[in-house]
Amino acid sequence: MRIVCAWCEKEGKSALICEVEPFDDPMETHGICVAHRASFLAELARSLTPPQSDASFRASAEPARAEPAVPAPETRRLAEWLGEGQELVRLFVPRLAEQIAALERRCAAAEQAHAELERRVEDARREAANLEEANRRWRELEAEILALLDPLIDRVLTDTIRPMYRLSRTLRARRPRAPKSS
Ligand SMILES: [Zn+2]
Repeated sequence: MRIVCAWCEKEGKSALICEVEPFDDPMETHGICVAHRASFLAELARSLTPPQSDASFRASAEPARAEPAVPAPETRRLAEWLGEGQELVRLFVPRLAEQIAALERRCAAAEQAHAELERRVEDARREAANLEEANRRWRELEAEILALLDPLIDRVLTDTIRPMYRLSRTLRARRPRAPKSS
């Protein structure tokens, strides 16, 4: 990964500060070069310190290209702090990019799992609909069979069982009576 100076880039200069791991990553990230950091800090120091004379005021109005004046202890501390911050950025920006990439991968995996679950739910829904359809057809068939059976049973009752019943009653009526008990 290339770290380029945002200020140099803005000025149309060659802006590459350094390359960091992963070296095969063509991505660019922004930093600040030594020269621009120094001028930035000098500018900052000037803006923090009220001008003491016309001369220093004129100096502060000069472009920041000149070497910064000997920094005050606070400015030096600030410079150190900013330098450390820069190191941290250099160290952590690639890691952050890695973490973001890892998060994106996890996000994609979660989306895939979600899509898979949705597919399964859709399959289950289709299966349930198929079962319901099969059940409905079975009930229709059952009704058809009953519709065929009912008149058949009626006919069996009318043509066979009722005449047999009548016959048995007739036979019973014609049976000689037993003598009355006294
Ligand atoms: Zn620069």
